[in-house]
Amino acid sequence: MIIIMKMKPILLTGLVAVSLLSGQNKKLLFIGIDGCRPDALTQAETPNMDELIGGGIYINDALCSINGQPTVSGPGWSTMITGVWYDKHGVSDNSFSGSNFDEYPPFTVLLEESGQEYHTASFIMWTPIHTQIFGNTMDYNELHSTFDGSVAQGAADYMSTPDLDVLFLDFDHVDHAGHSYGYSPEVNQYIDAIENVDEYIGWVIDAMENRPTFQNEDWLIMITSDHGGIGYNHGGQSIEERQIPIILSGSLVSGETIPEQSYLTNMAPTLLHYFGVENNCEWQLDGISMGLDANQFPEYDICPNCPSPITAEVDPSSLNISLFWDENMAPDHVYSLYRNEELIATLDGFVSEYIDTPSLIGLSGEAMFNYRLVLESNSGDFSCEDEISVGIPLGITILEENFNELELFPAVDEAYG
Ligand SMILES: [Zn+2]
Repeated sequence: MIIIMKMKPILLTGLVAVSLLSGQNKKLLFIGIDGCRPDALTQAETPNMDELIGGGIYINDALCSINGQPTVSGPGWSTMITGVWYDKHGVSDNSFSGSNFDEYPPFTVLLEESGQEYHTASFIMWTPIHTQIFGNTMDYNELHSTFDGSVAQGAADYMSTPDLDVLFLDFDHVDHAGHSYGYSPEVNQYIDAIENVDEYIGWVIDAMENRPTFQNEDWLIMITSDHGGIGYNHGGQSIEERQIPIILSGSLVSGETIPEQSYLTNMAPTLLHYFGVENNCEWQLDGISMGLDANQFPEYDICPNCPSPITAEVDPSSLNISLFWDENMAPDHVYSLYRNEELIATLDGFVSEYIDTPSLIGLSGEAMFNYRLVLESNSGDFSCEDEISVGIPLGITILEENFNELELFPAVDEAYG
C-alpha cells in the first residue's frame, strides 16, 4: 500500500529572482538507515520523520531486492547509491569482491557527468560506503564509526557550509539493535533505535533550516534503508528482509508520480532527475525517477530494459513452461517470442512473464525447447534479445492422446526370441 499525504501549498513569491542570482538552489539530504523495517518505522514515535512525511510521501512497501539479490548491506547500499541491482554493480556480499563501480558508478559520478559542479559531502558509520562505493567521489567525507549521534552532529555542523549541494548520511544502530534484540515492531530495543535516529535526523533538519540561505533553497530529503530483517538476521528473500521504507519530502515532491511498486534502485534516478540531469540510457540504470512534481520537471526518459536473463520454470504436473524476465518500463515497445524459431506470441512491452504449453505429442526422452525473446521499439530503432533452452524430462510417460502416434518397436529379447 502507498500512503500519500497531502502536500503543503508551495509559496513561490520571490523565489524566481533569487534563484537566477544564486545558481544552484536545489539541494539534497539523502539519509540511509541500515536495516530499518517499514512496519517498525510506522510503529515508532518519530516526530521529525512524521513532519517530513507531512510535507511529502511515505512508501512503506518498497523493495530492496529482486531476482534474489542478497538482503545484505554491501549489495543494498551499492544499489541505493548506483541505481542498479547486483547483477550489474557486482556486489553480492560485504567483501565487495566482484564490484563493478567503474561501469556502474555512484550517483556522484553521474551528477558530475552533467557538467555542473556540485559540492557533495557524506557522514557515515560503515566504512565501505566511502572506501568501496563512493570511492573518492565525495568532495568531503567523515567517518564516525562508533555512534549514530556523532554522524548527525558532524552533518549538522557541516550544514552551515554555504555551497553545500548534496549531503549523504548513514546510520547503523537500528541494524545493530536488530541483530542484538530482533528485527520486529514488537521489539522495544529495535523501536528505541529508530526513535533515536529520528532525534538525530531532527538535529540535521534543524541545521538545514538554520542555513542563512534556506529560504531561497529547495531541499529534497530522501530517507530509505539498505534492507530489512527477520528474527536476528537478514540476507534472505523473506518479505520482512526485502521490504524497506522510502520517505521523499520537499516542496517539489508529489505523490502522483509514485509507481505501484517502488524499488531501492529508484533513489539515484530520482535525485538525478531532481538536479535536472537527463537520463542517459548508456548508464543502464535499473530504477526510474519517482515522486517529483510532474508540473515542475521535464518528463523523465525511461530507457528500454532488455529481457536478460530469461529464466524458466517447468510445472511437473501440467508440463507448462513459465518464462520470466526483467520488467521493461519504457513505453512503445513490443516483445516477439519464438519457440524453436517459430513466432508463438507478440506481447505488450510491459509484460514480464509468459506461460507456454508446447505440444508434447510424439516426443519422448527429454523434450528440448529453445525460447528467444526479442524486445523492439515500435519505431524499430532499438532491439535486443535473449534466449533460453528448456528441457522437459518425459521419462517413460506416454500421453494418452499421442499413444497412437508413437512407433512402438518390439523389445530386443522378443525380436531375437
Ligand atoms: Zn545493512
